[in-house]
Amino acid sequence: MSTIAENIAKLGERIREAAQASQRDFSQVGLLAVSKTKPADAIREAHAAGLRDFGENYLQEALSKQAELTDLPLIWHFIGPIQSNKTKAIAEHFDWVHSVDRLKIAQRLSEQRPAHLPPLNICLQVNVSGEASKSGCTPQDLPALAAAVAQLPGLKLRGLMAIPEPTDDYCAQHEAFATVRTLQAALNMPALDTLSMGMSHDLEAAVAEGATWVRIGTALFGARDYGQAAGTATP
Ligand SMILES: *Cc1c(COP(=O)(O)O)cnc(C)c1O
Repeated sequence: MSTIAENIAKLGERIREAAQASQRDFSQVGLLAVSKTKPADAIREAHAAGLRDFGENYLQEALSKQAELTDLPLIWHFIGPIQSNKTKAIAEHFDWVHSVDRLKIAQRLSEQRPAHLPPLNICLQVNVSGEASKSGCTPQDLPALAAAVAQLPGLKLRGLMAIPEPTDDYCAQHEAFATVRTLQAALNMPALDTLSMGMSHDLEAAVAEGATWVRIGTALFGARDYGQAAGTATP
């Protein structure tokens, strides 16, 4: 078995145990492979080992890998910060966007979604760590944003995404993910079926609090080398 295939097996085990511990159905938790900074060959290997969903943060890097992988039936998720001038390419080349945190970006994605494609699946990124993070809308702004985004014809609002402040404190991890779950419930929008939360170091707490996508990079592909990465500095 390759290292990537081994890592996928280990992650499946971690997700299964966490789901079992909280009486959740393991099949409700999707593994989103975060492939930023990793070459197309690593994606190919992960696909061969059974993965289909891949998350990318940097548009140019993602587009060049997509062009190398057109022979595979992959589902692409955009998970990074979004500038207005990137919305058209994102609307054209992705199936999901997890990082929408303002209405202007949502409106552009909706208008620019090609008519021959199904509506773009959207998660609203919410900031549950206050000052510690700049990305994500505030919990206060979330209800109005969700109501507006739900009306946009080119989009399908699926749920919430969050990146809580990293901590090794399992209780603090739980508390942050529980906040996301509670915010989603408070929206009272029955069509929402998605909570995108949990990364390599905190997936257990996220699964316990209802994650339906865990976004995993390091534990799947190994540590990232940002020296080679297209685009931006270490997030
Ligand atoms: C990089 C990244 C991840 C993956 O993080 P790991 O700790 O490597 O698993 C998940 N979500 C987002 C939004 C990211 O930018």
